[in-house]
Formats: sequence, structure tokens, C-alpha cells
Amino acid sequence: MIPLMPSVEFDAALVRKLNQMGPRYTSYPTADRFSAGFGAPQYQAAVARLDAAGGQAPFSLYVHIPFCESLCYYCGCNKIITQDRGKSAEYLRYLGREMALQAAVLGARRKVDQLHFGGGTPTYLSDAQMDGLLAQLRACFDFAPDEEGEFSIEVDPRTVTPARIATLRRQGFNRISLGIQDFVPAVQQAVNRIQSHQQTMEVLQAARDSGFRSISVDLIYGLPLQSVASFGPTLDKVVAARPDRIAVYNYAHMPQLFKAQRLIQAGDLPDPEAKLGMLGLCIERLTAAGYVYIGMDHFALPDDDLARSQRQGRLQRNFQGYSTHAEAPLVALGVSAISAVGNTYAQNEKTLGDYYARLDAGELPIARGITLNDDDLLRRQVISRLMCDFIVDYDRLPLPGGVAPQTYFAAELQRLKVLEDDGLLCAGSRGSRVRMRGRLLIRNICMAFDRYLHDGPQLARYSRTI
Ligand code: SF4
Repeated sequence: MIPLMPSVEFDAALVRKLNQMGPRYTSYPTADRFSAGFGAPQYQAAVARLDAAGGQAPFSLYVHIPFCESLCYYCGCNKIITQDRGKSAEYLRYLGREMALQAAVLGARRKVDQLHFGGGTPTYLSDAQMDGLLAQLRACFDFAPDEEGEFSIEVDPRTVTPARIATLRRQGFNRISLGIQDFVPAVQQAVNRIQSHQQTMEVLQAARDSGFRSISVDLIYGLPLQSVASFGPTLDKVVAARPDRIAVYNYAHMPQLFKAQRLIQAGDLPDPEAKLGMLGLCIERLTAAGYVYIGMDHFALPDDDLARSQRQGRLQRNFQGYSTHAEAPLVALGVSAISAVGNTYAQNEKTLGDYYARLDAGELPIARGITLNDDDLLRRQVISRLMCDFIVDYDRLPLPGGVAPQTYFAAELQRLKVLEDDGLLCAGSRGSRVRMRGRLLIRNICMAFDRYLHDGPQLARYSRTI
């Protein structure tokens, strides 16, 4: 039994004061810094550099399935709403082509020890389509055995039966993530996502019965018609089901960026104080129920791999949130998907038309990306350690020869001083440690190290802390 230590402190006044727009740092530099000057040649060069540096290390694979049957009004994902199954069949043909091109670049039968299917709705695919796709992947790559690898899939409980869940386990998935958001019918109606408590619990139980190693659920606070009073019962039901991981996302209403959100009545949205109350309630209920705050919306049971990796200093942050696989290169397949290989990020074309056209031309469908310079790599390491460990040790950073951290990060240490005065962290010349009350505001701390924000702030496209 792991003794339960405090993992976060909710200080409403502090969150209220420092609530500001900022990146979520699933990458550094953030995706808005990618440029069209980066393409397939730069990506191939990154793979070659990686191979030259360390041989053929296992990597992580992400597969993006963009289709959904109906539109959730809060959605900010890259998805395609359609009931036309012919579209997914066509997509799978192109995905097969991209896979073959990637396999040729990566070399014969590279080892994959982490696979994630995201979307969209991966379970939009039929059993037969999923079988075909997995067979193609296994023909191209060498998957780790079930007990070693992490093979996860995002599941929309509305699209599956318990029998389908058992099939997914047989197909090789051993981790599952279920979208819930909120159990209150009026809230579900307001966001066009009707999903009963019973339906969700049946799927969750089926995942348990089928032998999934880790079950994760997603909730959202800040949706229309939600209140502190209404969100409590949803949290209680989730806690009673005891998933291994719980992600509680803050809904960011940005209708200027996400068209679907224009279907939400702005007058139905909870005000910032109510959202703050819901955030406080999440912290209180989930930590009281024994969950550890991992960081940035994520909670896990103390014996879950995420919590264990965090205790061992092995946690990583990537496009799916947090990952236990230390710095494995991430190769992403599918429209709009983002790879992270060596010192590069590479994003695929964002529309199906462009994605298909590039593959028709026999090219990797990379549309934009970035090659990180030494300063980017250094800052990425700082931000990653802060996000994952809540601590950064400047002596362990690959600073340019002879330059002291106090000199290199002089401006950053000044910015941290202000946050230290607010009680978020203890900042020293050798490193910084985030205090319990600063953990909810971790992105404010990371922003102090983001050179791009300070070179020319463009914050309108980012969401707020609450
Ligand atoms: S929230 Fe998920 S299921 Fe709903 S439209 Fe967006 S991608 Fe599809």
C-alpha cells in the first residue's frame, strides 16, 4: 500500500489572480510555431540522425482516426462528422500507404512498444476494419509483447457494446480511455452528447472483465448548464467506478476558433467563479478518494503506471497528455497527426483532400513542422521536467559550455521571482521546485521559459487555466 501524500493544493484566490491564457505544452515549441518550410526531407534527416546517434530504439506510434458519427458541440478536435462508412474505408487505404512510406523511412520492422489510437472516434471503425488496420501495422512494425507494451485506444461508449470491448482486448489493446464528460442529462443535451450512466458503466465493466490493464476516463468542467452542485454527483459516480486514471479537462469556449462551439449558448456557460468552484471540487473529491494529482488535468491511482513513473522521475509529456515511455520517438499516422522524432516535430496535412493528394503523389504527407535548435531543446527539457516532476535542476541541463544557469536564464529567473512572491514555487539559482499550491498553475511557470511568447506574445488562441 502506497502512503497517500498530498499531491496538490487548491488555492482559489491564487488561481483567480493568475488565471490567464497560455499553452498546454504538449510540445515545446508549441504547434503554432511550426512552419511550412519543414517537410518530408527534414523529417527523414531527423530519423537518420536518430539512427546514427543511438541505433534503432523502440518508438511510440499514434494513429489518428478522424471520423465521428455526431458532433459534440464543445469539440475542438480535428474530426469529420459522417455516417458514410465508405469514407472510413477510403481513409484506411490511404493510412496503409502512409504506413508503408513511414516503414520505408524508419527501416525494416522497427520495434513499437507504445501504440495509441485517437481521434475523432477510433471505434468508428468496424471490427473487420480494425482487424485489417492492425494486421497492416503488424506487417510493417514489430510490436512488443502484450505484457511489455502499452497499446491504448480512445473509446466513445456510445459507439460500442461490451462484446466490442472484449474484441478490442483480443485485438491487442490493453489500455482504454472512455469519454464521459458529464452524466447530467441536461448538460449532455446542451452539448449534443447523450450517453447514459448505465451505458458507460457497462462499457467500463466490460473493459475490466476483458482484462484491460488500465482504464482511464475523461470528464469536462465548464460545460453549459453545469454547476458545482450538479458536477458533484458526476464526480461521485466516477470515483465509485474506480478507474485507474481520471482526466478532468477545463472547457475553453473559443467559438472564434472552433465552429462547433458556436452551437453552445454562451448564456448557459458557468461563470468563472462557478468553474473555479468545480475545479476545487474535483481536487477535493478526487484526492480524498485516493487519486494523485499528476499535473495538467490528470489524476491517477497511486499504483497506476503514471503515478509510479512520476515518483521515479520517468514521466514524459506528449500530444496525448502524459506518457510513461521515456523520450521514445513518436511517429504519428493519419490526417493532422503530429510526430515528434529527435529534435523535430512534423505535422501531417490537416484536410483529407490534402492528405490524400500527398499520398497519391507518393510522398509522406507532412505539411509543416520544426527543427528544434539547442535553445529550444534546452527549454523543452525545462518545461517537460516542470510539467512532469514539478521540479527542475539547472545543473542537469545541457547549457552551452561555461555559461552559468543564472546568466543563461537571467530573464526567466526574474519572471520566476514574481511567481515566487505569489507562492507558486521556490526559485533558486540551481533550480526551482513548484509548491503544492503552484501545481494547478504549472503552465504559468512554464510560460516564463517560453522564448517564443516573450519574443512576440500571441496569446489569443490559447485557453485559460480555468
Ligand atoms: S468530442 Fe470526440 S466524439 Fe465528439 S465530435 Fe469531437 S472528436 Fe468526435
